[in-house]
Amino acid sequence: MGYTQRIIDELKERYADQPEFIQAADEVLASIAPAVDANPAYEAAGLLERLVEPERVIMFRVPWIDDAGRVQVNRGYRIEFNSAIGPYKGGLRLHPSVNLSILKFLGFEQVFKNSLTTLPIGGGKGGADFDPKGKSDREVMAFCQSFMTELCRHIGPDTDVPAGDIGTGAREIGYLFGQYKRIRNEFTGVLTGKGLTWGGSLARTEATGYGLIYFVEELLRERGESLAGKRVNISGSGNVAIYAAEKATELGAVVQTMSDSTGWIFEADGIDLAAVHEIKEVRRGRLSEYADAHPSCEYHEGRGVWGVACDIALPCATQNELLLEDAQALAASGCAIVGEGANMPTTREATDFLIEQGIAFCPGKASNAGGVAVSALEMSQNSERLSWTFEEVDAKLKDIMVGIYHAAADAAAAYGHEGNLVVGANIAGFKKVAEAMMAQGVV
Ligand code: GLU
Repeated sequence: MGYTQRIIDELKERYADQPEFIQAADEVLASIAPAVDANPAYEAAGLLERLVEPERVIMFRVPWIDDAGRVQVNRGYRIEFNSAIGPYKGGLRLHPSVNLSILKFLGFEQVFKNSLTTLPIGGGKGGADFDPKGKSDREVMAFCQSFMTELCRHIGPDTDVPAGDIGTGAREIGYLFGQYKRIRNEFTGVLTGKGLTWGGSLARTEATGYGLIYFVEELLRERGESLAGKRVNISGSGNVAIYAAEKATELGAVVQTMSDSTGWIFEADGIDLAAVHEIKEVRRGRLSEYADAHPSCEYHEGRGVWGVACDIALPCATQNELLLEDAQALAASGCAIVGEGANMPTTREATDFLIEQGIAFCPGKASNAGGVAVSALEMSQNSERLSWTFEEVDAKLKDIMVGIYHAAADAAAAYGHEGNLVVGANIAGFKKVAEAMMAQGVV
């Protein structure tokens, strides 16, 4: 049995209770096998055994008091997965589904994603099973302050730099930063996604969504096509979805669908994005409110955006939201490109099916890397105590996304998997981390 397969089998046995982590690790390990086999020194150095274990897992109690005066307790985590190429970097997810398996999958993906950005950032992820939905600002602040009271002893601008993710936006980053600064008595770039008046970077809010579109645009450009006139279906209506929709629309595409956890909207002539922004980002409301104010819109309860015929599908909600039956519906409707804005939104069976059908599949660790890339640019600006213009950051973001597309496409071709961006992204991301780990010895 090959080295890579042995590690996959061991992981499946040891972490049988962590399905999302197994799913992410299995996909990466299976596709990097040719690069691993080409270098026997990796096995001698136990490289894969080390790569699949986080350097550190921190788990802690997060007690806080709700508006009714009751004590609430959540479970907080930070997975410091790999620091071979830079300080741990990755978001904090606040969602009731958060558990060790989900954060290990996200942390593992982050290692390769961050490597692909070409910037000096290692991989990490954290969060808690806290649900900001329906909580008052004071409750969110109480939670964030308690969470940071523990987290602050583990992070730092040269150690571990958390950021946003699902449930963690500008408001939460503000409360977290305030508490860090208060306890540590230092004003440093310990978090990214900060407000523009206190160390944040222009274009960070837009970066993941814009980056996804720059990636897809480059893929289209290589085929002699563009986004103009393309029908685009998006799932989700959070930070990634909104700015992917904005950039796609700006480039001439028609964004037909968006969704939230209760339902989805369909607008044949394109969604009114200012209205979605106001409902989701300002009022923290539901997409059904959009339908109430837009007679041209169809609103459906539940899930269903992948059943609408489109040219490009952009899953931007959460993991495992695009299933095999959705992939089949997309293929039947003539969809040519699937670009992941979320982390691992497509199941393994759906991914394999799409690739078999010749649909261009852009894996999240490549196509959604724009967010963390601009986070790394925020760290650079914080270090030099300067801030760059929107145009400067946006231009760097675009260069980075174009570079990631070509790094993935080239690595795929070099290993005999022309056009397979899953294999390409995994190999390209892995090689840099592997080289750094080999140089740094058994640590
Ligand atoms: N949570 C985002 C991601 O999945 C951004 C992380 C960051 O900016 O550190 O990549």
